[in-house]
Amino acid sequence: MTLHDRLRDVENKLEQACIRSGRQRSDIQIIAVTKYVSVQTAQAVIQEGVTHIGENRWPDSKPKWETLNGQAVFHYIGSLQTNKVKDVIGKFDYVHSLDRLSLAEAIHNRAQLLDIQVDCLLQVNVSGEQSKHGLAPDEVKPFLIALHKYDRIRPIGLMTMAPFESEPEETRPVFRALRKLRDELNESAILKEPLTELSMGMSNDFEVAVEEGATWVRLGTVLVGKEEIEEGL
Ligand SMILES: *Cc1c(COP(=O)(O)O)cnc(C)c1O
Repeated sequence: MTLHDRLRDVENKLEQACIRSGRQRSDIQIIAVTKYVSVQTAQAVIQEGVTHIGENRWPDSKPKWETLNGQAVFHYIGSLQTNKVKDVIGKFDYVHSLDRLSLAEAIHNRAQLLDIQVDCLLQVNVSGEQSKHGLAPDEVKPFLIALHKYDRIRPIGLMTMAPFESEPEETRPVFRALRKLRDELNESAILKEPLTELSMGMSNDFEVAVEEGATWVRLGTVLVGKEEIEEGL
């Protein structure tokens, strides 16, 4: 299948999920996760009209950012080490993986130096899997309160990764819980601005995530495929 065909397929599935759940297609943004592919393929994705790019490691994404910045919105979706903050902040438009105060402090300090605000999503480990990063659901509210002092960080939403399930339907409770958490936080009095984004749903489970309220789906394999990459670092 070509990229064009895969995109058409994904669009059909998104459309159907929107119809099933009474949502508008325009409320959902596809983030093409290009971590498995070359700069050329990432460029082709943009030419197909998907202008949001997701990457999870700075060294791998560097050549893509250097070639394609200005043509796409860049999302940093992987776990971010504090010592990579200086590379990523000021380049990527969104960070989806804020999950600890030491990272918040590093992002804030870097942002202050650059005199910018940084839009961040809090990564939440809804499923409680040991292998997954993220705040426990009940840590999110105190974390948001603690973030008040880092005024260069703008919390705009929540992100989660569901466990891989051979039956995608089984991921539904994870996505539903993230949405419920977001709605509860928005009703509490702790936020200056509401959390609007829910970054949830990957190749295996994005249709369920959309039915449960995802505003950003992060699609790698199903959309851009996988390649042997020989270039880059
Ligand atoms: C790799 C990755 C994705 C995309 O994975 P696919 O299953 O290939 O769609 C999405 N989100 C994160 C955080 C990732 O690391």
